[in-house]
Parts: sequence; structure tokens; C-alpha cells
Amino acid sequence: MPKALITGVMGQDGAYLSQLLLEKGYEVFGLVRRSSSADVVDERLRWLGIAGQITVVDGNLIDLSSLIRACQEIKPDEIYNLGAQSFVKTSWNQPLLTGTVTAMGAGNMLEAVRIAHPQARFYQASSSEMYGLIQEPVQSETTPFYPRSPYAVAKLYAHWMTVNYRESFGLHASSGILFNHESPLRGIEFVTRKVTDGAARIKLGLATELKMGNLDAKRDWGHARDYVKAMWLMLQQEVPDDYVVATGRTTTVRDMCKAAFDHVGLHYEEFVKVDPAFLRPAEVDVLLGDPTKAKQKLGWEAETSLEAMIGEMVEADLFRHRSKLR
Ligand code: GDP
Repeated sequence: MPKALITGVMGQDGAYLSQLLLEKGYEVFGLVRRSSSADVVDERLRWLGIAGQITVVDGNLIDLSSLIRACQEIKPDEIYNLGAQSFVKTSWNQPLLTGTVTAMGAGNMLEAVRIAHPQARFYQASSSEMYGLIQEPVQSETTPFYPRSPYAVAKLYAHWMTVNYRESFGLHASSGILFNHESPLRGIEFVTRKVTDGAARIKLGLATELKMGNLDAKRDWGHARDYVKAMWLMLQQEVPDDYVVATGRTTTVRDMCKAAFDHVGLHYEEFVKVDPAFLRPAEVDVLLGDPTKAKQKLGWEAETSLEAMIGEMVEADLFRHRSKLR
């Protein structure tokens, strides 16, 4: 039975990746940091019905010794580093924490692999936010980076450390440059989930308006369930490499709002209000990925349209609120 260790296992991608790996017959270990709200952390795993099937490992990305011990004790065949402070806006309020977890945490994980278990295959969750102020209209693996937030700066460090440890020590380390990916398990602070939750609340009479930031921003949005397959495929390759994972289609926040409100038969213009509190000190105006390499080398393609995904998310939020109403 192959063994996988996942950091960030309680997050959106950790949950879907765990589900995929369990289906494939893996033994899945999830690194979980201690927090006082332990009873709610496995909410996503419970949603997918896999909460009891993962072995929880007590550890923290900022505690190198816990990572070394996890590598020594589990000897995982594959390690997926998904743990991070992942919300861009928070990264201006907690820039150094973001650097400690998102940048140095990846450095720690790579050091643990190098010291304790260099045979493991390593996946780093890199981000399209690294392109920031875009240097090419369509971003590929060769597009130069220009990060626009402390989060993106931290992710860039982690990305280059992954490349460097591959080149310096011959680790089987790959970096997936994933464009925005969403699902019913997306955190409520991210724009898609905020909108699908808002549309569901308004539909059910629980709210009357939705306050938003920059409606003109454009993102290449895919479904997290599709994207975790690309992560796994990267680690099945004989040669480690870096890949863009994207749909190749970009949409404004405004049109994404329209899709969510259309789904419940409402006009978004009547409910969505712009509030400067949700604007950012520096914005990433547009992202659009070129997934050609992932298609050619991994045989991977996005399977879910934005409309289908937003519909699934709105339905999940309607279900959640109706269950609370009962
Ligand atoms: P990001 O691409 O990782 O920053 O993902 P987000 O989902 O947080 O934001 C995507 C885009 O939506 C950014 O350009 C935001 O500025 C924009 N946006 C507009 N209004 C909002 C809002 O109310 N909340 C969030 N999170 N983003 C918003």
C-alpha cells in the first residue's frame, strides 16, 4: 500500500486529494497542527465522508523537528505540501506569519525530506498569484513572475526552493502552479464561495445584499476536484518538473456573480454592492493560464466548467443554510 503525507489536509485541496488517494488505495497521513478548535477542523473531510480514514499526525510546518519525525516514522512514498496561510488579503495584515508558514514552512518540509527521507516524491503547491502583475497575457511555465502580495512573495520563495532542491540534491520535487480552484469546500473568505454563499442566503431571505470588492478582476477558475488529479499525476512522472494547471478561460468577478445569482433566478445587480473595505492594497487584475504542458505531458485537462462549478457551490450553500434553518 503506497503511503502519502499531506500538509494542509484539512483544507479544500487536502480533502479532495485525500479522497482521490484513498480511492487509489493509498494509506493517507495528514499533518495537523494543534488548535483549540480541533472539533471543527475536519469539517471538509466529513463532508466528503472520509474523516475516519486518514491518520492524523501531530505536527506543524514551522516546527522542523516534527516534520523530520513524521518523515522518519511514516516513510511516505509521496509528500504533498499544501499547508499555507493561503488568503491573499490577510497576507497584508499578517505578512510575517504568512512568510513563516507559506515560505519557510515549505523550506522546512524540503529540509525534512532532504535530511530524513530523500527517496520521497515531493509536491509543492505553487500559485498563479506568483504571476501577479502579469508579464505575458497568457501565463505558462516560462512566464516571468511579479508577485503582488506578501502571500505571492512567500509562494515564490517556496517555488524556487522546490526547484533548487531538485537541482541541488536530486530530489523528486515538483511544483504545480495552480490557478484559482474552487469547490463547495472553498473557504468562505474567497470570492467564489463568498458569492455562492451570499446568493444562497439572499435566496432564502437570510440576507438582503452582498458587499464585494473589485468586480473587474479576472481569474482563471477551475474545480479543486479536477486540480488534485494533476498533483497526483505530477508525482507519477519519472522526471520531476513544474506545471501550470489551469482551464485556459478567464472570467470577471462580475460575471461569476451573475452566474451564481442566475442559478437561483435572481439579478445580481440588485444585490451586489461595492464596498471599498474589500479592495486590496495591490491588485492582481487578470490571470489566464496556459495548461498545454499539463495536457501534453500529464494527459490532464480541466473537466468542470465555471457555470457547473458555481451551480454545485450554490446548491451546497443552499443545502447548508436550509439544514441550519430546520
Ligand atoms: P486570490 O486570487 O487568491 O486573491 O483569490 P480570491 O478569491 O480571494 O480573490 C479573487 C479576486 O476577487 C481578487 O482579484 C479580489 O480582489 C476579487 N474580489 C472582489 N471582491 C472580493 C471579495 O469580496 N472577497 C474576495 N476574497 N475577493 C474579492
